[in-house]
Amino acid sequence: MDAHTIARVLPLTQTRALRGVFDYAVGAHPVEVGSVVTVPFAGRRLLGVVASLAGHTEIPADRLAAVESVLAVSLAPDLVELAGWMAAEYCSTPARALSLMLPPGLARGMGEKRVLVAQLTAAGRAAVAELGSPAGRAALAERGSVRGRRGLSEGQLAALRALAEAGPTPAAALGTALLRRLEGRGLVTIDAAPTGRLPRRHHVSSSAASAPRLNADQRAALVAILAALETRRGEELLLHGVTGSGKTEVYLEAARATLAAGRGVIILVPEIGLTPQALARFEARLGSVVAVLHSGLSPGQRHDEWLRLRRGEARVAVGARSAVFAPLEDIGLIVVDEEHESSYKHEGDPRYDARRVAARRAALFGAVLLGGSATPRPESAATQRILVMPQRVDGGRLPEVTVLDMRGLHHPLHPDVRLALGEVRRAREKAVVLLNRRGWSNFLTCADCGRVWKCPNCDVSLVLHRSGGLMACHHCGHREPIPHGCPDCGSVSVARHGAGTERLEHELAAALHSGPDFPVLRLDADSSGLEARADTLAAFHAAPAGVLVGTQMIAKGHDFADVSLGVVLDADATLRFPDFRAEERTFSLLTQLAGRTGRGGAGTGRVLVQTLAPAARPIQLAARHDTDAFLAGELTRRRALGYPPYGTLVRIICSSPDPEAPTRAAAELGRRITAAAPPSVAVLGPAPLFLLRRRHRAQLQIRATERAATIAAVAAAVDGLVGDRLMRDVAMSVDVDPQ
Ligand code: ADP
Ligand code: ZN
Ligand code: ZN
Repeated sequence: MDAHTIARVLPLTQTRALRGVFDYAVGAHPVEVGSVVTVPFAGRRLLGVVASLAGHTEIPADRLAAVESVLAVSLAPDLVELAGWMAAEYCSTPARALSLMLPPGLARGMGEKRVLVAQLTAAGRAAVAELGSPAGRAALAERGSVRGRRGLSEGQLAALRALAEAGPTPAAALGTALLRRLEGRGLVTIDAAPTGRLPRRHHVSSSAASAPRLNADQRAALVAILAALETRRGEELLLHGVTGSGKTEVYLEAARATLAAGRGVIILVPEIGLTPQALARFEARLGSVVAVLHSGLSPGQRHDEWLRLRRGEARVAVGARSAVFAPLEDIGLIVVDEEHESSYKHEGDPRYDARRVAARRAALFGAVLLGGSATPRPESAATQRILVMPQRVDGGRLPEVTVLDMRGLHHPLHPDVRLALGEVRRAREKAVVLLNRRGWSNFLTCADCGRVWKCPNCDVSLVLHRSGGLMACHHCGHREPIPHGCPDCGSVSVARHGAGTERLEHELAAALHSGPDFPVLRLDADSSGLEARADTLAAFHAAPAGVLVGTQMIAKGHDFADVSLGVVLDADATLRFPDFRAEERTFSLLTQLAGRTGRGGAGTGRVLVQTLAPAARPIQLAARHDTDAFLAGELTRRRALGYPPYGTLVRIICSSPDPEAPTRAAAELGRRITAAAPPSVAVLGPAPLFLLRRRHRAQLQIRATERAATIAAVAAAVDGLVGDRLMRDVAMSVDVDPQ
C-alpha cells in the first residue's frame, strides 16, 4: 500500500468551531501539500487545502470520505506553513488565513479569462508606415486589392492606425469581424491572451523607464542590501531616507539584482488607489516580469496576475498588503515601502499585519526584508539594521517649520497662516493645508491653557461621549464626568473641537478668491470615490497655482513638484487620539507633510504648524526634522510602559445586539486569560465601547511581555468559550498588535 493514502485537509470554512484538519482518502487523485481539493464536509461540498499527507488515519474505513476532485491551482507548501503560523499568531484559523492566499474568485470557480487581442504583423506595420502619404495609401489600397478582392476600407485603415499607435489591443475594441478580414490579408494577428496581461504596456513612458545614476547614499544602501541578499540569512534592513531621498530607486536596483540572481521579489506599497503612477514606475523599469495586485483590478484580472506569478511567468509582485501572499517561489527580497503606514494592518479576521507576515515569509526563504520610510516605526528602528539617506536627491533642503501657538486665539487660522496664504495667492504659488478631522468623537481642551483631559491609567486622552454625558478611556474603561472648568488654570472656557475640512475649504475659497487660475480643492475620505480623488490630485498637479485642503491623505506619498507652503491646522488632533501610537502618528504626519513641501523648483518651502500644544515633543522634534531624537525618546517611553516592541498588546472586542452580553463575555474571557497567561500579563477592562452598527461592544486590552505564551492563552480562552451559553449572540474579535 502507498505510504500516503490519507490527505489531511483544511476545509475552507470561516466557522471557528469547525477549525482543524480532517482526514480524507486520497483515492484516485494524486495530491500534494498545498493541493486545493473539494471534499464532502458537514453535508456540503467545500473547498479545502491539503495540509499534510499521512499513511493512516484513526477514522474507520467505512466512515472515511474521499477527496472528490483536485483543482488545477495549488498553493506552494510554504504558504500552507505560513497560514498555520498566522492562525497561531493572530488567534485565527488556518482556513481563514488560507482564504486570503488563494487566487480571488477561486471559490466561485472563476477560470482564467481570455480575450482576443489583435496586433500588427510585420506586413501590417509596413502598411501603416505607408499610410502617411496619399500615394502610399493608394498603393496600399492597390496591394490590398491584389491580395484580397477589394481595397482597404476607411474603417480598416483606421483600425490599422489604431493598432500601430496603441500596440496589442482587445479585438472587441476595434471590431472583431473587421480585424478578422485584416487577419485574412496577413496584416494583423489575433490571439487569445489572458486579460491579466492587458492593462500593462500602456503607461510605459520612456522617462519612467530610464534609471538615474545612483548617488553615494543610494549606492551605499544598495551595497548593504546586496550583501544581505548574498548571506541568505533573512536579514531585516530599514531604509531610513528623508522624503525625496530616492528610496524607490534603491528598491528598483535591489529588485533588479534579486531577479538577476534568479530569485523572486515582493514589493509592498500602502493602499495605492491614489497613486497608480507608483505602480507604473515598477512596471516600466522591471518589465513584463512584474505582476500587479491591487484593488483597482477586477477579480478576473487579479486572478490572472496570481496565475502568472504561480507559473513563474511573473517574478515580481507589486501591490498593497495582500501581495505579501504572492505565490512566488524562492523569494529573495521583500520590500515594504512607507513601512510606517497603518494600512499594512488588515481589518478583517485574521487581523494580520503585512509587515510582520513579510518578516516571517522573508525568514522562511532566507530573503532580505527591506522596509523604507522617512518616519520609520519605533518597532522597526529598534530591531532592524538601519541604512540612512539624509539628503534629498534634488539637493533641496527640508523646509523650515514654524510652530504657531493657538492658545487664546479664537479664529481657526493663525494670523501668520492668513498672511502666508495671502502671499501664496499673490505670488501664484501652491499650498497644501492639512486638517486631520476624521470621524472620531469630539474631545475637550481648555481654551486658555491648552489642557487636554487624559486617562490617569493609560497616558492617552479621554474621548467625549456626548450621548452618555461623560469622558471615557477606550483603553481601560476609566470614565469621568464632562468638566465644567479647567482644574489647572480655573478657566471655564472648555472648548469642543469640531470644524472639518469641508468648512475650511469653503472659508478658504472665499477668503482667497478662488477661481480657475487659483482653485481651492479638497481631498478627504468624504470626497466621494477613488476616481474623484485621483481627479482632485490631477487637478492640483495641473493647476498653475492654488490650495489643496485635506486630511492626512494629502500627506501621503504624492510627489507635488511645486508646493511652497504647507499648513497643518490643529496638529495635536492626532496627539489626542486615544492610542499609544498618538505621538508616533503626529510626528510622522508632520514630517510627511513637510516632505511634500519645497520639492523640485519651489525653493526651500516652509511649513506652518498650528497647535494648542506647541511644546509637545513630537511637534517640536518634527519641526526640527529630528527623527533620531524622536525615535530614541519614543523607545524609552515605550520601554517604561511595556508597549511594542517591548511588549505585546492584544485587544479583544465582544459585540452583541444585547446590551449586557458583551461586558459579561469579556469579563469571563478576562478571567480565563488571567488564569492561563504568564503572571506578567495585565488584563485591562472590560471597557464599554460606543455602539457600532447597532451592536453593543466591550473591549478587553491585554498587555504582556511574553508574546507567544500570551497569545496562546488568549486563543485557548477564546476557543474555550466558542459555543458556550454565555456567548450566545456574542461575536468575538481578537486583534493582536492592534493599530
Ligand atoms: P523617495 O521614495 O525617497 O521619496 P524617489 O525614489 O521617489 O524618492 O525619488 C524622488 C525623485 O528623484 C524621483 O523622481 C526619482 O526619479 C528621482 N531620483 C531618485 N534618485 C535619483 C538620482 N540618483 N538621480 C537623479 N534623480 C533621482
Ligand atoms: Zn486651563
Ligand atoms: Zn485608561
